[in-house]
Amino acid sequence: MSEHDTPDDEQNDERPHERRDARHADHRFETKSIHAGQTPDEETGAIMPPIFATSTYVQDGPGEDRGYEYSRTGNPTRTALEDNLAALEGAEFGRAFASGMASINTVLNLLEAGDHVIAGDDVYGGTHRLFRQVFEDYDLSFSFVDTTDDEAVRDALRPETELLWVETPTNPLMRINDIEALADIAHDRDALCAVDNTFATPYLQRPLEHGADVVSHSLTKYLGGHSDVVGGALVTDDPDLDERFGFYQNSVGATPDPFACFLVLRGTKTLPLRMDRHCENARILAERLDDHPDVSEVYYPGLDSHPGHDLASEQMDDFGGMMSFGLDATLDETAEFVSATDVFALAESLGGVESLIEQPATMTHASIPREERLDAGLTDGLVRISVGIEHVDDLWGDLESAIETALD
Ligand SMILES: *Cc1c(COP(=O)(O)O)cnc(C)c1O
Repeated sequence: MSEHDTPDDEQNDERPHERRDARHADHRFETKSIHAGQTPDEETGAIMPPIFATSTYVQDGPGEDRGYEYSRTGNPTRTALEDNLAALEGAEFGRAFASGMASINTVLNLLEAGDHVIAGDDVYGGTHRLFRQVFEDYDLSFSFVDTTDDEAVRDALRPETELLWVETPTNPLMRINDIEALADIAHDRDALCAVDNTFATPYLQRPLEHGADVVSHSLTKYLGGHSDVVGGALVTDDPDLDERFGFYQNSVGATPDPFACFLVLRGTKTLPLRMDRHCENARILAERLDDHPDVSEVYYPGLDSHPGHDLASEQMDDFGGMMSFGLDATLDETAEFVSATDVFALAESLGGVESLIEQPATMTHASIPREERLDAGLTDGLVRISVGIEHVDDLWGDLESAIETALD
């Protein structure tokens, strides 16, 4: 990791505002999600943070700004979101980006040619593509290993390992990785441990409490929550890391516009309510699927039978709204099943209020060669669902009748 690319941009070396919203440090999650980062507008009393649709800010004199000079560098609507997200992760600092990929890219910007990264072998496909097809060209190297196996991670360490990239739960088999154990392994070698917390959200899991250095989010999923915005974020307690993230945020420029920030802020206000219902619906569907004669396996960490259940019970406050299950069915029958649902929409992505269904073999994981895919447990009959917050009996009725249509 380079020492010489510390921030020197004059636009960024002074921090215009206290990042942490200390007013809500003692409040509970539900209160922070609504209030952190946001105060009624002083002039008008507007309770919602305005969408500051402005590129520049008038200065009181040359070099005398009021904390903002240019909206790539900083925008008050973005600041409200960044402070809100930091509070939700129990962190000091937050930075918002134009997408989840832009936030992951920013963590990789910390590295320099020759550095080595260890990542889970089932990380998000876009993360795998960014690492292999973009950053390998910049002479970074990557090892993809089973991060549920501490020994495999230790064996992959090299003197030049600078980053351990972890997701938990993972996609689509919902494997649970031990954040504390992995952070310890990284720290033994002075490497950073970054956790992509998109699937769990800070309502269910706060990786910094388990020793991670950085948390990355796709705001596009549960935090936005309504399938109407794309965004990303990085959260950390380390002021030096945050400053470097700010430097790259400003230098690279993949920042979210204020309207996107406003939408995510609106989303986080109801995150606890939505997540409670996502979790409850998912638990009920997992149990019913588990009892269905045409379903061979259910991958949901809330089930006792899930290999990560005990760890998830310790590390998470509940088990989330994502699950996969295997049908006793061919590729074509499974394709027919995912096309036959009515309430569940056939789509990639996840985390919105509406339920989504997809077939990894032909959709999210289609780029993996068939043999490799089968070895990884991604069978032709595998189905992934993002359980929404509709009435659970409508969701169950939909799955049951689609199974009947496709398999009988
Ligand atoms: C969607 C997703 C991303 C990428 O986020 P975008 O907002 O689509 O760029 C990264 N990680 C995980 C786990 C995701 O689900």
